Amino acid sequence: AGKRNGRGKITFYHRDMEHEEAEERQIAHDLHAALLLDQLELHYQPIIEADGTVCAAEALLRWRNRGRGYVPPDKFVRVAEKSEMIHRLGEWVFKRACRDLKSSGYPRFSVNVSGAQFRNDGMVDMFRRVLRESGCEASQFTLEITETVVLSATPSVQRALKELREMGFTIALDDFGTGNNSFALLRDLPVDYIKIDKSYTQRLETDKITQIFVTAIGEIAKELDMIVVAEGIETEEQQTCSRIAGAVRFQGYLHGRPEPIRGQQRPAAVLEQVAS
Ligand code: C2E
Ligand code: MG
Ligand code: MG
Ligand code: MG
Repeated sequence: AGKRNGRGKITFYHRDMEHEEAEERQIAHDLHAALLLDQLELHYQPIIEADGTVCAAEALLRWRNRGRGYVPPDKFVRVAEKSEMIHRLGEWVFKRACRDLKSSGYPRFSVNVSGAQFRNDGMVDMFRRVLRESGCEASQFTLEITETVVLSATPSVQRALKELREMGFTIALDDFGTGNNSFALLRDLPVDYIKIDKSYTQRLETDKITQIFVTAIGEIAKELDMIVVAEGIETEEQQTCSRIAGAVRFQGYLHGRPEPIRGQQRPAAVLEQVAS
């Protein structure tokens, strides 16, 4: 514990911040190297329909660093978003997903796109170029727009999304309900899927307010011709509850964990398990 007096607390707080900044600089440096040395991986988690058919898989970044071990994507994506590195990272992810698609056995992939990538005027062209170079079709991909940084429906964001949809991409709003302007985004952005955040799906069974909230999202989605996907499904009960609330696609440990595609399987199995 720090000192009790005000001055002491401020100093203590200050040191924490400095420590955090130093760690972020180090992560940024290591991530840059990992990109150059091709040390990142994508794992894929199945997404299923109500009848059990696997309709897609979501690509999820994995990074195991020599020194720091497994670094969760939440953490290093947030660091990358603070600089231009997010654009490189985004391109790496889409290139790798295109490369993996055919051999994966999945009919289509969902790929996460950070809101910060929209700062790059060249983003839409990047998607176009990578598709051309890889021979993949936009219709084989859903782009999950993550609201990790404040994503607002500015004219340039709207234009970019419109172009991506016209190219044939499906657009999903990820982690729905966790941002502070989720409903405004829904009204103002052209999206096809809504992904209900796992913090909601996992509370559906027990929490009445969550049930009302998710059911409302389901109704809005129906009205707007959007598809509701429930993520973080770990139990049959959670699946049943989210289906009642209007979800028609499901993703979670109940159906499969994120894993490397066959042929890339490592003896050490799943990276997350190495982490803790
Ligand atoms: P997300 O896009 O919402 O991905 C879903 C997260 O939930 C993943 O965490 C996944 O492993 C986890 N998950 C799936 N099923 C379950 C379940 O049943 N229970 C629980 N407790 N968790 C489950 P992960 O892989 O740690 O990724 C965290 C976040 O990092 C992602 O959230 C996404 O926002 C970001 N991320 C991951 N890969 C990328 C990427 O390639 N690009 C960008 N921009 N962000 C990425
Ligand atoms: Mg996602
Ligand atoms: Mg999500
Ligand atoms: Mg998330």
